[in-house]
Amino acid sequence: MLSSWIVALARANGCKVHTFCSKLSGNQHTIWNRDIDRMAPPELLGRLEELTGIDAAKIRTFTLAHLAEQIDVDHHANGNATWILPLGVWHRKRLRYGVQFCPMCLGFDKRPYVRRSWRLAYYTECEHHRVLLMDRCQSCGEAFNYFRGELGNRNQIDAAKLNFCVNCGFDLWRAVQQRFEWPDWQLTVAIRTLQFMTDFGWATLDNRTFTPAYELLLVIRQLIRVMSSGSRGGQLYDTVAMHLWPEGYQVLSERGKEYERRGVIERHRLFGMAVWLLMDWPGRFELAFHSAHIRRYSLTRDMKVVPAWYAEQCAKVWQL
Ligand SMILES: [Zn+2]
Ligand SMILES: [Zn+2]
Repeated sequence: MLSSWIVALARANGCKVHTFCSKLSGNQHTIWNRDIDRMAPPELLGRLEELTGIDAAKIRTFTLAHLAEQIDVDHHANGNATWILPLGVWHRKRLRYGVQFCPMCLGFDKRPYVRRSWRLAYYTECEHHRVLLMDRCQSCGEAFNYFRGELGNRNQIDAAKLNFCVNCGFDLWRAVQQRFEWPDWQLTVAIRTLQFMTDFGWATLDNRTFTPAYELLLVIRQLIRVMSSGSRGGQLYDTVAMHLWPEGYQVLSERGKEYERRGVIERHRLFGMAVWLLMDWPGRFELAFHSAHIRRYSLTRDMKVVPAWYAEQCAKVWQL
């Protein structure tokens, strides 16, 4: 991810991160008081091209803007982007837990770095290590502020590696890792496949392929919205959960809360539950909507775009 690369460039050049950023843009604040991974100013990309010899268009692929175009039909650089975790930037502080990390990836990296996928709200399990990602230090609860390593120490250039919490020094690799087991392997495979393929621009589920990927992600999003709503449609959550975990299931911490503002485990669960509803299409979908007594309008309400295959099925469900 761009910001992580900038930190690496600074260190490789024996520079403090904020000195390096002042050289880059004249004023380091223009870099760290915004979410540069989501909204990288063209001047910054141009300057990096000048200094590194790497094409600005290539550097742009390190940003989330590039990723968001693949997964969000209505991506606005300045607004909240669907599926991208918000940082809540306030001056140089991050008020939200917007960057997740895999402790094992950080531990195994020779030079730990931040992957773009760690900012994706539905990327909740590491595709390599199969552990749930984390979004804060397990020891002190601070957000993963990897770019603040040598802050507050004038003479320090060599900050600790990214796997050490900048607040308390805890080695994030030592955190107790958590795994999440879905009740059946078909669902596990479907979710894992979706997690790594969406940045290719297309997605696949069962025998169906969705190009672009947001044809599927729009519907997953809608099902999550219905399941987590505080109105009658929210019954769908319990219907699906009872199918998946008949012995007992975890209720939602809060109804009506936006997906990107939920914790890792809850995002993980909601995404998988929506995927489950879309498997064996359209049998599970029909059954769940009838047993949860969902109204037709909530199936498509507030959707930016309704993919034809979904619109068609919603009309049929209503007639059944
Ligand atoms: Zn990992
Ligand atoms: Zn800490």
